[in-house]
Amino acid sequence: MNDLQPIATAEQVGRPIVIAGPCSAESEEQIMTTARALAEYGIKIFRAGIWKPRTKPGGFEGIGEPGLEWLKRVKEETGMLVSTEVANKAHVEAALNAGIDMLWIGARTSANPFAVQEIANSLNGCDIPVMVKNPVNPDLELWIGAIERIYNAGIRRIAAIHRGFTVYGKHLYRNMPQWHIPIELHRRLPGLQIICDPSHMGGKRELIAPLSQQALDMGFDGLIIESHCDPDCALSDKSQQITPEVLNFILNTLVIRDNAQSTESLTLLRQQIDQIDNDLIEILAKRMRVSREIGQYKKDHSMQIVHTNRYDDILKSRVKLAEEMGMSGNFMKTVIEAIHEESVRQQIEVLNNRAK
Ligand code: PEP
Ligand code: MN
Repeated sequence: MNDLQPIATAEQVGRPIVIAGPCSAESEEQIMTTARALAEYGIKIFRAGIWKPRTKPGGFEGIGEPGLEWLKRVKEETGMLVSTEVANKAHVEAALNAGIDMLWIGARTSANPFAVQEIANSLNGCDIPVMVKNPVNPDLELWIGAIERIYNAGIRRIAAIHRGFTVYGKHLYRNMPQWHIPIELHRRLPGLQIICDPSHMGGKRELIAPLSQQALDMGFDGLIIESHCDPDCALSDKSQQITPEVLNFILNTLVIRDNAQSTESLTLLRQQIDQIDNDLIEILAKRMRVSREIGQYKKDHSMQIVHTNRYDDILKSRVKLAEEMGMSGNFMKTVIEAIHEESVRQQIEVLNNRAK
């Protein structure tokens, strides 16, 4: 997937990419009032859910196809690009017929390969930007798999939306950020734009600004934020929607850092990190050589490889030392466990006479 294209360029929509609009299209008036205000504030891409995946039946399941006519009107009157969520073949066909500019696949849908494949098949041969939300469960391979299905349909303008992951129970966030997952996604697919959805991640108005800033600081390409002309009366996700005015205020407070401008001191610091990592790997290799010598000794004296007491002492003393040096004990426990596992593997090799 090394020929991915941006879903929107800085020349077209500015930087970062900002997509805003209500969780759901509820009425023509709500859509037009919100859209006009957002366009006034310079928003270039409008969002609204027409078909809503709800946790339980009986909630507001979206206005359906009539909403597409409202989005067409938004496009005509404000010039914004318009986007909506699709979850099956019928949605894709209706959205394409209505001239919707961008589509997104929701978190519940991207967790389902059958549904993503159905969407991919109906997109085959089209040239429309598609955003793939992370699946509800923290499974990077499933997320990449969904992106690949869309890519295999010939779509090149693809972006990922990070909206956090479901965990059981009550937490500060509605969906846990688990930032390491989008960071790993970026490492695997560097050409893929990643957009943060602080609305669904935080689930609360007051978390939108800090989560947006965090995403920008980490180099995300854009934000998708739910905005409603009258959030308290919204038919879905009201506690996380903000007025266009508040959105504008938040966007103006965000600090946008320039990634392209890598300063000299940053380069120097990165060189230090490279050197330290090399030293670490050399020290680890040295430790493994000593481990193999111990393995040889144990073999010569017919001793077993793992001595639980010794391992327990190592673990406790290293964790304590790490804590004294300002690192997390849990972190050091993970490191020592991984080192111990490799040491044991090396000693088993010696035992089996396969030492390299
Ligand atoms: C949405 O963006 O409207 C939506 C339903 O979000 P998610 O799929 O992330 O829950
Ligand atoms: Mn929503």
